[in-house]
Amino acid sequence: MSMIPFDDREGFIWYDGRLTPWRDARLHVLNHGLHYASCVFEGERVYNGTVFRLEEHNERLHNSARILGFEVPASMDDLARATEEVIASNKIVDGYVRPIAWRGAEQMGVSAQASKIHLALAAWDWPAYFSPEARAKGIRMQWAKWARPAPHTAPTRAKASGLYMICTMSKHEAEAAGCDDALMLDWRGQLAEGTGANIFLVINGELHTPTPDCFLNGITRQTVIGLARSRGIKVVERAIMPQELAKADEVFLTGSAAEVTPVGEIIGEIGHYRFTPGTICRLMWEDYDRTVGKRIASAA
Ligand code: PMP
Repeated sequence: MSMIPFDDREGFIWYDGRLTPWRDARLHVLNHGLHYASCVFEGERVYNGTVFRLEEHNERLHNSARILGFEVPASMDDLARATEEVIASNKIVDGYVRPIAWRGAEQMGVSAQASKIHLALAAWDWPAYFSPEARAKGIRMQWAKWARPAPHTAPTRAKASGLYMICTMSKHEAEAAGCDDALMLDWRGQLAEGTGANIFLVINGELHTPTPDCFLNGITRQTVIGLARSRGIKVVERAIMPQELAKADEVFLTGSAAEVTPVGEIIGEIGHYRFTPGTICRLMWEDYDRTVGKRIASAA
């Protein structure tokens, strides 16, 4: 990834209703979103100048904000227009869009009923979430020490900034151990997800994936389930214990940024597992690339 800091680049950011020169899209240090994590966002992939599943992302953004008790100050049409503007003004062909909405500076305490809601959209070139080399042979993951919280202890259906605190901590530990990402269990000890992607296991030619009852039901996850079913591959959503990884022939992650990424190894206290990306990984990777309209097939 480029080392140019994200606040010091050329281009435009859509900020509270208009395109703003990139470096001028600033924020005061006293704002509720920063101090109390009253902040929701999206992560979208642009393929050939268009966001894949834009409506689903925008609906989730609206829904995430409502869960936190505020309204995104833009209709679905406004969001679609702003997305188009930010992609065009930055001349993004293949990249990433980051919409973000947060409570502003009117109140600096836990309560923020009077705070205004702000909205920004940025877009940048972002070709790979995991390195192509790691992806080809399967990424290495380390078991996270943190668990996805129970739905009554956090707003787990929202793509809310606060939920990423344990993801960053877990991913940093995994990277320090030479891994690409961390793999998280949930509060019950069941297999949950990566720090920014859902997980699938291939068991006896079927796809098994954890029921998304305390983490995001990813848009990519839903797309891949549809693709698998249309190929006649059985998909089972259920509670999966980590030890069942011993039965899996292949494992992969799905996410807007990660796309379909095979897992090659999982290390750590919960158990050590190795997988070789095989037929079903490759098929789902290729089907996904075709569905999003990738011009160059990235699958081996
Ligand atoms: N889980 C987490 C924690 C994520 O951040 C993401 C990425 N938004 C996903 C799952 C996958 O969601 P999607 O396929 O909608 O990008």
